[in-house]
Amino acid sequence: MGNRLSEDKNARVLLLEAGLSTKSVIQIPSGFYDVLFNSALHWRYEGEPEPQLNGRWMWQQRGKVLGGSSSINAIAYVRAHALDYENWAAMGAEGWCYAEVLPYFKKCETYEGGGDTYRGDAGPLGVQRGSNHSPLFKAFIQAGVQAGLLYGVIDLDGISAISLSAGGSIESDHLQYGAITASSPPSTAPHPPP
Ligand SMILES: Cc1cc2nc3c(=O)[nH]c(=O)nc-3n(C[C@H](O)[C@H](O)[C@H](O)COP(=O)(O)OP(=O)(O)OC[C@H]3O[C@@H](n4cnc5c(N)ncnc54)[C@H](O)[C@@H]3O)c2cc1C
Repeated sequence: MGNRLSEDKNARVLLLEAGLSTKSVIQIPSGFYDVLFNSALHWRYEGEPEPQLNGRWMWQQRGKVLGGSSSINAIAYVRAHALDYENWAAMGAEGWCYAEVLPYFKKCETYEGGGDTYRGDAGPLGVQRGSNHSPLFKAFIQAGVQAGLLYGVIDLDGISAISLSAGGSIESDHLQYGAITASSPPSTAPHPPP
């Protein structure tokens, strides 16, 4: 949002966030697990005891770093099912049906396969189809196909029926990639806390 606001040359944008800069272990995608247990980089929120979890509570990590949770996330790219947006709109979330949010998804991304009805080709966030050559991945997909599901035919981020697809991920050039790395305002400079 800061990046889009700063497109207006008359605007001065103040990006105010708690936490450290991203120049740390979080730049390494496999550093993800380390970050989850590194209290300096998230807020250490704890959930409430859940009856469905036999009374146990869970960690609810939220990023305390420039770029927020997007700087500590798993860089998977998933838009959610189109029907979720339709349901939210039907429940009163005006402006949130799939056709209304789609232009913003497209504007955000540059898809590796190029732009089409569902994909953008000029946005700040590089998105690629997941690739996984593990035998377990292949066996899982094969089982789905044997059960009658389509594989790789439908773009799951489009108007998706139930089908199988390799999950999308954010193109990261082997580095963690989030809101701040994809589209920080030109003059973003971390400022130490007072
Ligand atoms: C561990 C983890 C893995 C995830 N993996 C994925 C994934 O692979 N793919 C995916 O699509 N999504 C993933 N997500 C979810 C995704 O990262 C979040 O949904 C998204 O970043 C939320 O954006 P937001 O702007 O709503 O909140 P946030 O990104 O959390 O932004 C809130 C910002 O406000 C700041 N803030 C909070 N309180 C204060 C305060 N008092 N003063 C100043 N600043 C404050 C925070 O530090 C933070 O920078 C993951 C999330 C987590 C935590």
